[in-house]
Amino acid sequence: MKVVISADMEGTCGVTSWVQVMPPEYGDGPSSTAEYERARARMTSEVNAAIAGALAGGADEVIVNDSHDGMRNLLPEQLHRGCRFITGNDKPLGMAQGVDLPGVGALFFTGYHAKAGTPGAPLAHTWTGWVQDVRLDGRSVGEFGINAAVAGHFGVPVVFVTGDDRAVAQTRDLLGESVVGVAVKEGYSTFAALHLHPEEAQDRIRAGAEEATRRAGDARPWPLPVGCRVEVELDHQTRADQAAYVPSVERAGERAVAYVPADGLDFVRTFRAVIKAASVRMSP
Ligand SMILES: [Zn+2]
Repeated sequence: MKVVISADMEGTCGVTSWVQVMPPEYGDGPSSTAEYERARARMTSEVNAAIAGALAGGADEVIVNDSHDGMRNLLPEQLHRGCRFITGNDKPLGMAQGVDLPGVGALFFTGYHAKAGTPGAPLAHTWTGWVQDVRLDGRSVGEFGINAAVAGHFGVPVVFVTGDDRAVAQTRDLLGESVVGVAVKEGYSTFAALHLHPEEAQDRIRAGAEEATRRAGDARPWPLPVGCRVEVELDHQTRADQAAYVPSVERAGERAVAYVPADGLDFVRTFRAVIKAASVRMSP
């Protein structure tokens, strides 16, 4: 069995500010090369711990998908030798890229964060800063739910999650208590947390990944129900105006759009098109 790791960054131990997760090439926001470089090294170490755990738990191969921002955060030279890795933006399956590869039997989420609007959750958001919510049949899901549904289309279950305590709780609440979770920090607010020591966090990730891999055979995928209605709530009517131009997507209220995808692949394709369409300048 192969394991895919969807590696986000906000849920990494020691991270509580956008400064720490923003690649310096983005000059339009807070950016600190030194702090970002240290956070990406810790992110890489946490991913390595997950790889080591998966291999110890019986995985034949681990494929890591860099899933944060421009998706070039992991330090390739420092990655565990036992993996192949996916980098770069504009992947058809986005944060779930890799789940379509032959032989993949489980998906890990590392460095994950809570969904938009969550109180006391470091850097909580859903996809971008201006998506207010994503709902599947009325149920609010974060990135963990979106990516679980894409993986579910390919019959791949989510078996492991790491991140802040709210991210772990929300993921298990949505996908089931059988998902092994490791919280590396307890959130105080959007910009503060109480962290484990980074090495302690990595030890727990390694142990959790091993347990999750051993139990992966019993895990169930989480595909979208047939006829599922997807709602995307945005922060401004202008974005909803544009998103409603995407074929099959309709306006669903003042700042929201909705669609009913044919399947999990149609779900992610249309979602990506909605996000692209809604990425308009707010003062043209
Ligand atoms: Zn991220």
